[in-house]
Amino acid sequence: MAPMRLEIITAERRVYSDDVDLVVAPGLEGQLGILPHHAPLMSSLQPGELIIRKDGEETYLAVSGGFLEVLDNQVTVLADAAERSDEIDEERAQAAMERASEGMAGRGAEIELEQVAVAMRRAQIRLNVVRRRRARADMRGAVGGPGAG
Ligand code: ATP
Repeated sequence: MAPMRLEIITAERRVYSDDVDLVVAPGLEGQLGILPHHAPLMSSLQPGELIIRKDGEETYLAVSGGFLEVLDNQVTVLADAAERSDEIDEERAQAAMERASEGMAGRGAEIELEQVAVAMRRAQIRLNVVRRRRARADMRGAVGGPGAG
């Protein structure tokens, strides 16, 4: 199948821009799987993992919510924050997770707790994306397959 264009941008930078075969994004009401020539669509995104398939290889990104639009065989993701698995600083995500855990234990005001829970979710997603990448790299090492992002 002919590919479709994917652009992932934040206020700060262009995170990803390429022709791809499949996008799976964390829609507000569940996973959105988008193949080429998808019907026009607009959806909010929740914080989660975004998976890209291109030439049989999968790339994983952490996204912190935003919007997704499909129009004319192009998928545009406007994300609050987004990082490819190879860009994620695992120690930073781990530190954010620990701060959030301490914040939870401190039992502050309700509004603070909500912010802490959201920060914890962002950190958890980043850690999941990094660990998934590492697990796949280990698996490839074991079978001697090709590398991917
Ligand atoms: P932290 O508490 O570590 O700043 P955060 O969840 O509050 O994490 P965000 O507000 O979601 O951070 O993102 C701020 C900027 O930092 C964004 O550009 C985001 O891509 C980047 N960022 C956040 N955490 C990481 C990380 N672990 N690795 C790489 N980039 C990150």
